[in-house]
Amino acid sequence: MKFCSSCGSAEITLTIPEGDNRPRYVCPLCQEIFYHNPKIVAGCIAEWQGKVLMCKREIEPRYGKWTLPAGFMENHETTLEAAARETQEEATAQVENLSLYTMYNLPHINQVYVMFRGDLVEGHASPGLESSEVALMDEQEIPWQELAFPIIKENLELYFQDRRSNHFTLHYGDMRRLPNMSYEIERY
Ligand SMILES: [Zn+2]
Repeated sequence: MKFCSSCGSAEITLTIPEGDNRPRYVCPLCQEIFYHNPKIVAGCIAEWQGKVLMCKREIEPRYGKWTLPAGFMENHETTLEAAARETQEEATAQVENLSLYTMYNLPHINQVYVMFRGDLVEGHASPGLESSEVALMDEQEIPWQELAFPIIKENLELYFQDRRSNHFTLHYGDMRRLPNMSYEIERY
């Protein structure tokens, strides 16, 4: 960061504040400390008659790739509200009976993914602002080679695996990108 958002100073420095143990951006004029912490991404696996609601991205990154409706949580909302709002924004769809389904740490990009599972109301969906297309897909219809993010693939794999055994449970894990750009997944 270049400017202090508190006093406008352009002298932001990276330093370890007293009593802390890691470098922070600090304004030497007003002493404001700017903490950078992980962001929460919330989303939905919305089901309708055995199919899952998928969105084709009309925004970068991964323009044209398929994803589950999900996005950054806003201030003053809950994770569940964020998941439902993203589904509304990206697929013009209402969801109900949501329950927490997966929570994954993505430490290499400082994100935590919180995904819910629930019913797509009346099976209605249409492309929202960030989608060029939406579709209800069964396991065979999922474009496995055209998914936007590895974490979306992980969620869909868990989902169809649970569906086959007809036993849905909460999944908690970590996904890390390795130096060779492959991904390491640890499921707890
Ligand atoms: Zn300042």
